[in-house]
Amino acid sequence: MLKRIIAPFSFSRVFREEIKSGDNFAIWSSTSQRRFCSAVSGSCWKCGQKLAENQFSLQCPACQSLRKFGGEDVNYFKIFGAKETYRIDLSKLSMEMKILQKNLHPDLFSLKTKEEQELSESLSSLVNKAYSTLQNPIERAQYMLERRGINSEMLETKMTTDVEFLMEVMELNERLDEIEDSKDWAEFRRENNEKILELNGKLEDAFEKENIDEAMLILAKMKYYGNLQDKLKKLQSRLGVVD
Ligand SMILES: [Zn+2]
Repeated sequence: MLKRIIAPFSFSRVFREEIKSGDNFAIWSSTSQRRFCSAVSGSCWKCGQKLAENQFSLQCPACQSLRKFGGEDVNYFKIFGAKETYRIDLSKLSMEMKILQKNLHPDLFSLKTKEEQELSESLSSLVNKAYSTLQNPIERAQYMLERRGINSEMLETKMTTDVEFLMEVMELNERLDEIEDSKDWAEFRRENNEKILELNGKLEDAFEKENIDEAMLILAKMKYYGNLQDKLKKLQSRLGVVD
């Protein structure tokens, strides 16, 4: 459901689709400059080439080796060439993911050194983690807040400051316990979905305005309604509701 509620937006950079199948790494390196990002400058671990500050690339431009990122700050959004916004085009994200998966495919590294094979594996898992985080609205928002120094504990504390919402939570929890048949269930789910949609729109606004205080509160609420959604799913089989 959540996948459908995210409206498209334009990527800040031209979306490159011209990568043909069978491209080798040398060709790919021309597009990889924007794919992998490190805010830290450094040198290539293999050939020593100085890597310019804010030059985001998966490979060293001189020797084409995969780069090592270590503990450097890798921005998930930039991996996919996307602007760091909450509103994100999920179909473009998925297309970018397919390109990255293709270019990090183990077959491409079967003749390389063990070190480079391991490097490609660790970059693959980084890409997978980035993808699963960004394609989930709650995780994406959480990630954006984390980058602004907000952790989940701070979110929970934030939620307790909204007395009206806490009252609503109590009411909804009671109502959930009282669901007896498929009619109650469907009504509750409809309302819950509407609420998530509404909050999603508000969250987009809050992030666009860089209103972090507001984004925290909205995300805390979205997480609560997301949990309710999970509980409703469990209840569905118990009540024998056909979707
Ligand atoms: Zn190099």
